[in-house]
Amino acid sequence: MGTSREHAVVIGGSLAGLLAARVLSDHFDRVTLVERDRFPDAAAYRPGVAQGRHLHVLWSRGMEIAERLFPGLEEELRTAGAPVLGVPSDLLWMTPGGWRRRFEVTRLLTFSRELLDWSVRARLAKFENVTVLDGREVTGLLPSAGGPGAGVGGVEAREHGTRADAEPLRADLVVDACGRGSRAPEWLGRLGFPEPPQTKVDPLLGYASRRYAVPPGFDPGWKALYLQADAPNGTRTGALFPQEGGRWIVSLFGMAGDYPPTDDEGFLEFAKSLRSPHLYEAIKDAEPLTPITSYRRTANHRRHYEKLSRLPEGFIALGDSVCAFNPLYGQGMSVAAISALTLDDALRSGAAPTRIARRMAKNAAGPWLIATGEDLRYSTTKGASAGISTRVINRYVARVVRLANVDHHVCTRMVNVLALTAPPQSLFKPDVLWRAATTRVQPLAAPDDHPV
Ligand SMILES: Cc1cc2nc3c(=O)[nH]c(=O)nc-3n(C[C@H](O)[C@H](O)[C@H](O)COP(=O)(O)OP(=O)(O)OC[C@H]3O[C@@H](n4cnc5c(N)ncnc54)[C@H](O)[C@@H]3O)c2cc1C
Repeated sequence: MGTSREHAVVIGGSLAGLLAARVLSDHFDRVTLVERDRFPDAAAYRPGVAQGRHLHVLWSRGMEIAERLFPGLEEELRTAGAPVLGVPSDLLWMTPGGWRRRFEVTRLLTFSRELLDWSVRARLAKFENVTVLDGREVTGLLPSAGGPGAGVGGVEAREHGTRADAEPLRADLVVDACGRGSRAPEWLGRLGFPEPPQTKVDPLLGYASRRYAVPPGFDPGWKALYLQADAPNGTRTGALFPQEGGRWIVSLFGMAGDYPPTDDEGFLEFAKSLRSPHLYEAIKDAEPLTPITSYRRTANHRRHYEKLSRLPEGFIALGDSVCAFNPLYGQGMSVAAISALTLDDALRSGAAPTRIARRMAKNAAGPWLIATGEDLRYSTTKGASAGISTRVINRYVARVVRLANVDHHVCTRMVNVLALTAPPQSLFKPDVLWRAATTRVQPLAAPDDHPV
């Protein structure tokens, strides 16, 4: 990467962009974050993060990094009313292999996506060398002083929603955090750089979500529900999680094109058809606080910058713009956080763009394996099909899931993999392999109401 550290531009002010801007503030004299939306003055919806109306879980690794970059953030979220959830001790969790015993493995704060983004934005605003240009859309990249083909030297941006001429914003480094709809490959193409190859694996997953008021005095001995489909025969999953403000977020998920409806009756019917009645029973008489909204842009989508032999100086992509996952496993924000640390390391060591791209790809590799591996259990998934190795791994993982339902040690391993505090390979270590080979598991017939 170039040696000048005067000005960096981040495109996109969602979580990947906000965390990247925070990291860059330690390395550059000035950082400008350009966001297409106007940021709301509160923890509120905005179109650029339309997925924020649906369940968002920030696993431990993501929270740990966000806290490291913004010390005190966790306490602030807690003070704003984010409940603490013991996982799976406070969670009724119906896995594909049956009920999971309610061990205490980890603790999570559960909050709305709006609250998280608002808290992070407010903290970033305290950094004097960071400027936020909201309501501005980036329309292209500028070549560096060496001319097209030498590198990236900034962006062109104009007021969003207008046809005004785009104005140049020169920078020594441009970070693309535009999310899964990023047009950076096309912009790089215009400067004479090759576009990265792309992979899409689409499980045809749809979300429908609604927020409810927690009924007064509601205390059934659990705080959250996660009722998973039994793939590949079952396609329907449902989740109910507490959020700040005494609310529940309820998200229904349908795989293989079995999309959950958005009318009141259809939503409840879908909830009723899940593998356990708990979610339906909880919401059928609860007070809805929002309309039902749907979301279907959920394909796994990778842009393989790491496969290019030549990358421009002065340009780095991270977050969903490099790799967006089927969101059911809740990994995107944590991968964005890990990638912000990769950016920090790269700036400290002066790594070359191709090396940085390889490290960004490595951050996404484990979560990609988890998301696409699960999706390939469905023959309807588009873009890839399960080869022999995927089928063998899936059979093994199904066995480990059943074992994790009753075995604290294996459950801890599994949750750590989901929480990105351990790699997926840790499920193949001898202790787990041995237990999986020698233990016969009887599925629990009913949720275990007594945490071990
Ligand atoms: C339904 C759903 C549920 C999810 N649930 C979870 C979960 O439980 N846990 C989890 O960790 N992750 C979850 N994710 C993933 C998570 O939302 C993303 O990984 C996270 O938002 C980080 O993405 P990002 O910042 O890279 O991109 P995005 O969040 O997509 O943000 C991109 C930003 O760039 C801006 N932008 C785009 N183009 C331009 C432009 N030309 N100029 C200026 N600005 C631009 C947009 O307005 C937006 O603000 C979920 C995703 C979906 C779709």
